[in-house]
Amino acid sequence: MAELKKCANDFIFTGFLGEGSFSTVYLAKEVQSSRVNNREVAIKVCEKQLIRREKKSSAILREKKCLHTLTTNPSKLFIQLLCTFQDNDRLFFVMNYAKNGELLSLINQRDVFDENCCRFYAAEILLALEHLHKLGIVHRDLKPENILLNEEMHIQVTDFGSALIMRDNESAEQQPQRPLPESQASVDDQNNRRRRNSFVGTAHYVSPEMLNNKISTPSSDLWAFACILYQMISGSTPFRAPNEYLIFQKIINLEFEYTDDFSDASKSLITSILQKNACNRLGANDDIQRDGYLSIKSHPYFAPLANKWAKLEETTPPVSA
Ligand code: ATP
Repeated sequence: MAELKKCANDFIFTGFLGEGSFSTVYLAKEVQSSRVNNREVAIKVCEKQLIRREKKSSAILREKKCLHTLTTNPSKLFIQLLCTFQDNDRLFFVMNYAKNGELLSLINQRDVFDENCCRFYAAEILLALEHLHKLGIVHRDLKPENILLNEEMHIQVTDFGSALIMRDNESAEQQPQRPLPESQASVDDQNNRRRRNSFVGTAHYVSPEMLNNKISTPSSDLWAFACILYQMISGSTPFRAPNEYLIFQKIINLEFEYTDDFSDASKSLITSILQKNACNRLGANDDIQRDGYLSIKSHPYFAPLANKWAKLEETTPPVSA
């Protein structure tokens, strides 16, 4: 018998987790056969009226499509969509609950975030990007606030509202893994750019090509990855200034410095990824379908993890909750 579509009455809303620009996320428990299931879930509730007013329908659809793709190609490194439903006024996304909040809070606890910790989380983020890019999805808003931590302190990437599904309607194997000429940008991306002149993503992590309003590619996520690694090591993002305009100037001019916190290996890795030209970034020319991000994984910074990559998701993270 086909499973009945869920509705809001099938859940008890037990708490508030946070608010996005057009959604509220609640903690909830499912009610099954009049009994409360102890498993906690996160339910993102979006007001249809607000979505229409803010012209966010395509962002919501994109998010749902990405979450579906990640449900059919599961990886523990991503938030899982458990089901969706709607009523007259609202859309509901039921997701697994990432109990330990955002990676940002952990980064800000400088005393627990040591070198091992940086390397471990950088490796998990890289594996998550590998999985995503193999599926032909560019996240485009990767930042520590969008990297949640589950009960065991492993990462779970979320927020696909800005994602680019490369070459929609094509299989992942046919996805281009290298920057495409402007003329070949996907229809989705072109529509996006026509609709808004502003950049996609978040100022501190946005890549030069996204700022210049050219197309974003998997390599744009690698840029954000390097910015996050920089932030994990030093506590601050590489491109800092009092306002967005000045941050963008610094990004475009590749104006950043290393503090004493950085080892030679970490400097070398970050420098090789923070390249203005997306094609010159370490990893940009890797055969992702065949080898994943082999060039990044074999960088000396990750030497202590050699032969441990395949087991990383089963490894106990170097911090406890
Ligand atoms: P925006 O939509 O503006 O990009 P956002 O991504 O922060 O913002 P939401 O996705 O609505 O917005 O999330 C709101 C808050 O809920 C965030 O602070 C996030 O940490 C929290 N949250 C979202 N999903 C989960 C989840 N599955 N488990 C735990 N917390 C979550």
